[in-house]
Amino acid sequence: MVDLELGGETPAAETDGVWLACVACSETVAPYDDVVYRCPDCGGLLEVRYAEYPTFDDFEGIGVWRYADALPLPTGVSIQEGNTPLYTVPEIEAGVDVADVRVKHEGMNPTGAFKDRGMTVGVKVAERLGVDRLACASTGNTSAALACYGARADTEVLVLLPAGKVAAGKIAQAALHGARILEVDGNFDACLDVVAELADRGEVYLLNSINPFRLEGQKTIGLEILEQSREATGEWPDRIVLPVGNAGNTAALYKCFRELVAAGAMDEAEMPALTGVQAEGAAPMVEAVREGNDEVRRWDDVETRATAIRIGNPVNAPKALPGIRATGGTAVAVSDDEITDAQRSLARDGVGVEPASAASVAGLRKLSERGEIGADEQVVCLTTGHLLKDPDAAAAAGGDTTPVPADADGVLDAL
Ligand SMILES: *Cc1c(COP(=O)(O)O)cnc(C)c1O
Ligand SMILES: [Zn+2]
Repeated sequence: MVDLELGGETPAAETDGVWLACVACSETVAPYDDVVYRCPDCGGLLEVRYAEYPTFDDFEGIGVWRYADALPLPTGVSIQEGNTPLYTVPEIEAGVDVADVRVKHEGMNPTGAFKDRGMTVGVKVAERLGVDRLACASTGNTSAALACYGARADTEVLVLLPAGKVAAGKIAQAALHGARILEVDGNFDACLDVVAELADRGEVYLLNSINPFRLEGQKTIGLEILEQSREATGEWPDRIVLPVGNAGNTAALYKCFRELVAAGAMDEAEMPALTGVQAEGAAPMVEAVREGNDEVRRWDDVETRATAIRIGNPVNAPKALPGIRATGGTAVAVSDDEITDAQRSLARDGVGVEPASAASVAGLRKLSERGEIGADEQVVCLTTGHLLKDPDAAAAAGGDTTPVPADADGVLDAL
C-alpha cells in the first residue's frame, strides 16, 4: 500500500504546520528535530505534508519563492532559481500529430538544470538542521547545483560521481564552486549506495532526491507550467512529458497536483498525464509501468549517451509510479539516436539542451507515432538541462567545422 492521501488531522509531530509522513506506513515524523531521510519504522520514503495547502491566489513574486506558501520554509538559500521559459517549438510541433507543444526549459536555471529548485529549499533546511557537511551522489547536475548552493551557504560539499560518466560542464561547475569531488569506481547507483551509508553514519547531510525537502522545491516546476500554460493558451496542459532518472520530478509533479486538488484549486480529472521517458539502456521505470508492477526491478548494467538519466534503480519509484497511473500517463523508452535527433530538432527551434533533456521530445514523437497521444492534446515537454552541460555531446550532434585561410576570398571559396 502506498499512502499518498493529503489532508486529515494535523499530527503532534508538526512544526509550523509542516511534518514528514511515510508513504508506505503513514507514520509521521517531526520535520526539523532530527536528520531523517526514511521512515524510522519501515524504511519507506518520506514526504513533506502541510496543515494547509495554498491556491493560486496565494502566490506572489517570481521564481521558486513565488510559491513560498507551498514550501516548508518562507525563504531559501536563493540565487534566483525558477521562472524558466515555456517556449513554442514550431518545428517539433509540426512533426507530431498533437494540438499544441511547448517546451519548459529548465536549462535556464542558475546552474543550468532544474536541480537548483530543489537545492534552494534543501540547503536552507540543512541550515535549519545545523548540519555542516552536505553531500550527494550525482550523474552531474545535482553535484553542480549542490556545489553552487553549498558555496552560497558557506558549507562544505562532497560529491560522489561515477568515474568517466559525467559530462564536462558539470564537473567544471562542481570544481569551480569548490566541492570536494570524489570519482567512484562504479555507476551512479553505487555512488548513491555509498553516500546513503555515509549519511546513515551521520557523516554528511544527503541532498539527493530521496531527501523529501528537495522535491518540495521541484514541485514548483509544475506550478509554473500550470500558470504559464494558462497564460499562453488559456488552458492547463493535458500532458507533461519528462525524462526520468531517479523519478524525483515525476514524484514532485504528482505531489504538486495532489496538493492543488487538496486545496480545491484543481479537479482530479484535470491533472496532466505524467509521461516518463527513459533511455532504452536504462529503463527500469518503463519496464515497471509496462508490466504493471508496483516496484521497479533494479538494472545493474545501464548505458546511454544521456548520462543524466543513466540510472538503474530510481529511488522515487514508489511515489512516481502511482502518479503515472493516477494521471492516466505512461512511460516509454527511446534510443540514443532518437535522443540525438530530438536534440538537433530542439536546437533548430532555438532551444539548446543536453541529451537527457531531449529524451522528452523523443518520447513525445514515439508516443504520437504509436497513436498513444491524442491529436487534440496540449503537451508540455520538460527539458531538464542546458546544452553547455555536455559540450562533447553537443559537438558530436552538431555540424563540423571548416578550416579556412585568413582572407575573405578564401572564406568565400570554402562556402
Ligand atoms: C537529474 C536529471 C534528470 C533526472 O531527473 P529525476 O528527477 O531524477 O528523474 C533528467 N535530466 C537531467 C538533465 C537531470 O539533471
Ligand atoms: Zn513507514
